[in-house]
Amino acid sequence: MPVTASTSSGEPLMIKAAVLTAVDTPLEVRDDIELAPPGPGEVKIKMGASGVCHSDLSVSNGTIPLPTPIVLGHEGAGTVVEVGEGVNGLAVGDHVVLSFVPNCRECYFCRRGQGYLCERGAMAAMGGLLDGTTRITSKGAPLHQMAMLGTFGQEAIVPEISCVKIDDDVPLKVAALIGCGVLTGVGAALNTADIHLGDTVAVIGCGGVGLNVIQGARIAGASEVIAIDRFDSKLEMAKQFGATRTVKAGDCVVLNPGESISLPAYCYHKFWGAEGKVLVGEVSAVNDDDTDNRFLDPLPRYSQIEEDEPPVYLLCTDYPDYYQA
Ligand SMILES: [Zn+2]
Ligand SMILES: [Zn+2]
Repeated sequence: MPVTASTSSGEPLMIKAAVLTAVDTPLEVRDDIELAPPGPGEVKIKMGASGVCHSDLSVSNGTIPLPTPIVLGHEGAGTVVEVGEGVNGLAVGDHVVLSFVPNCRECYFCRRGQGYLCERGAMAAMGGLLDGTTRITSKGAPLHQMAMLGTFGQEAIVPEISCVKIDDDVPLKVAALIGCGVLTGVGAALNTADIHLGDTVAVIGCGGVGLNVIQGARIAGASEVIAIDRFDSKLEMAKQFGATRTVKAGDCVVLNPGESISLPAYCYHKFWGAEGKVLVGEVSAVNDDDTDNRFLDPLPRYSQIEEDEPPVYLLCTDYPDYYQA
């Protein structure tokens, strides 16, 4: 279905928003954005705060393919200022966190408790709202909305099912972070990694998501949470989020042929400064500026070098000298 501007009745409103007009171009701040009124099942949100997430960059550089021009931003919170027909769960004045994974609560998957597979929510990947259209235009041309949201604007029309009502006394600046970083990181710890009471956990990369993995690991009852990053400032922050140990990535240790060690064991090893041995698993995978995203994958819990291979050096480093294998 082509994405077109809504033809709902009422005067459109001019707002300011940051627009990605094409892949690999800088965002353009425009103040001529017209907002149509919310359609059925939709609400208008006055944005209180929006985070900037790596996924916004991924759309901007084409890694996540979305149609342009588009208003980016998917980590936001705000206030409901208008409700469309049939909206029952929200009222003007409500404070909400916006979700990029809307749950309709009615489809097959939602009823099975698998809201992340919501059939209607899947439209979030198309650049429009639930019906495929968008409510914003610039110079008469329709603009798409990232994740049915587009939080990089002063206001947005979003589906009711993309909103989670929160208490009024929660600062919107804080609430916005729950829209992506917190749910991604804490969710990875609680649901994906399946951390149990007393577990030892290593978290590689302590950005927005990684810090919340640390927080989630503590919530899950992990007794040791080892934070690994290349920056001291992030490791300091990691302690505030519950890390019990920190490891400054960058040094290397040799793992001799045939030897193996678990990643947490490596971290202990390094923390204690013992000589020796160590790790390597998805070596190149961890050596990446985008370390945060590694938490979405299972951590390399166990790594081994084949007998006939030479020693391999550890990763997590910026220094090419360490890439010897
Ligand atoms: Zn995000
Ligand atoms: Zn659903």
